[in-house]
Amino acid sequence: MLTTILYIILAILILTTLYVVVRTIIFQWSYGSVEKIEGIAVDEGVVAEHLAAAVRCQTVPLDDKGTPAPEAFQQLHQMLEETYPLVHQKLKREVVNSYSLLYTWQGSRPDLEPVMLMAHQDVVSADPATLSAWTHPPFEGRIVEGFIWGRGTLDIKNQLIGIMEAAEMLLRQGYRPERTILFGLGHDEETGGVNGCKVMGQLLKERGIHLAGIVDEGGGIMEGLMAGARGPIALVGASEKGYLTVEFTVNSQPGHSSTPPPQTSIGILAQALARLEAHPMPTHLRRLRPMYRGIGRAAPLTIQIAFANVWLFGPLLKRWLVPIPEMNASMRTTTALTIINGGVEDNTIPAEAKAIVNFRLLPGDTIADVLWHVKKVIKDERVKFKPVEGKFNEALPVSATNVPAYHGLRQVIRQVFDNPPVAPFVMLGGTDCQHFVPVCDNIYRFTSLVMDESFRGLEHGIDERIPIEGMAKMVKFYAQLMQVWGTRGMTASVERNKK
Ligand SMILES: [Zn+2]
Repeated sequence: MLTTILYIILAILILTTLYVVVRTIIFQWSYGSVEKIEGIAVDEGVVAEHLAAAVRCQTVPLDDKGTPAPEAFQQLHQMLEETYPLVHQKLKREVVNSYSLLYTWQGSRPDLEPVMLMAHQDVVSADPATLSAWTHPPFEGRIVEGFIWGRGTLDIKNQLIGIMEAAEMLLRQGYRPERTILFGLGHDEETGGVNGCKVMGQLLKERGIHLAGIVDEGGGIMEGLMAGARGPIALVGASEKGYLTVEFTVNSQPGHSSTPPPQTSIGILAQALARLEAHPMPTHLRRLRPMYRGIGRAAPLTIQIAFANVWLFGPLLKRWLVPIPEMNASMRTTTALTIINGGVEDNTIPAEAKAIVNFRLLPGDTIADVLWHVKKVIKDERVKFKPVEGKFNEALPVSATNVPAYHGLRQVIRQVFDNPPVAPFVMLGGTDCQHFVPVCDNIYRFTSLVMDESFRGLEHGIDERIPIEGMAKMVKFYAQLMQVWGTRGMTASVERNKK
């Protein structure tokens, strides 16, 4: 009897192990390597000068509503016209809502859906209190020690110049795409893009244009910046988290603090907030699977086995990933208590206490889901809550990774950057491309730059700068992407790879 039980246990163990191994092998399925290309010949010094000139145009919003400084944008527009004469000769240029730019590079096959490459012209300001900490002033566009220094060199004038430069060079070579290529260059991304790309998105919709693919800022080639991955990994944002700010209010009888009730409005609110923090929305580990699958063998075998078998190792993975803020935010809707207000006098029971909580929604969770969760967790009728006007949007749809647009993009990344693994991920912040969801299903957020630990905190921070070499590579990337996405199939042919 005992031996029979032992045999059964042994059989279960063997079968489970086999199942785990098979799943891991399937999970590791690789898409083969592509041949590295030399790409278009780029004069690094010239490109660096062009980016530096763009940095000198101080396209900083005048207020938090994103009101543009007209002279700065005129200066930038003029700089683009003078620097890229062929682009301005051969492409149609439209000014949208005074400052945003929409370029149309007409393809030879008007029956094909166009693609769009994006960047924004505006940059965040440089905090006056930190100016003395900058090695080189933020708006002088200095080129020193192999870097181009200044605000916008990483976010995202590098991409703006990369697109323009690549187009100018291809035009010089006489290239014409089959598929129409648009350049969408917004002017108020840092303040939500409502006057720039939102208007541009509506314009395309009115014209009945549907796009086959978009590449905007986001992601990049990460070296040593991701938990459980070795070597460079190309991360492509396939979706963006949603946004929801909720206001909580508790009203109670005001009075003297010498004879307090058992709980004041502050106590009631604090209790509700503590519950919210203690009970976040559930994690969805499976949302991370496509990313770890894309990373494949760049992850240690243990992690590959675990992600191939979430059914078995899910709890272990959660224990590892939840304490890492970026990973936690990548697999659940997050809860952040950000503002609290209540009371004016030390001896007075306040009539009202208020708090603001900011949620970032994982694709799959809706605003209604979060509000239902809040109600269920707080379980207190005395706490009133409602979304703050204008401060909510649902998570964006997840763009597919089994379509030609993604295959072509992945191919170009691997050609230009020597075959890094390419994996989709969910962007934690928002970008301008959200305004094109009504006209495009294949939206990818990818900045073609290799970034390591030394890049941490530079975007929007002090000493923003880009290596000249990285900037030149960006031009190669765009030139290759224009040639690959510019074809009917949106992927490079094998013959082309061999060249
Ligand atoms: Zn940006």
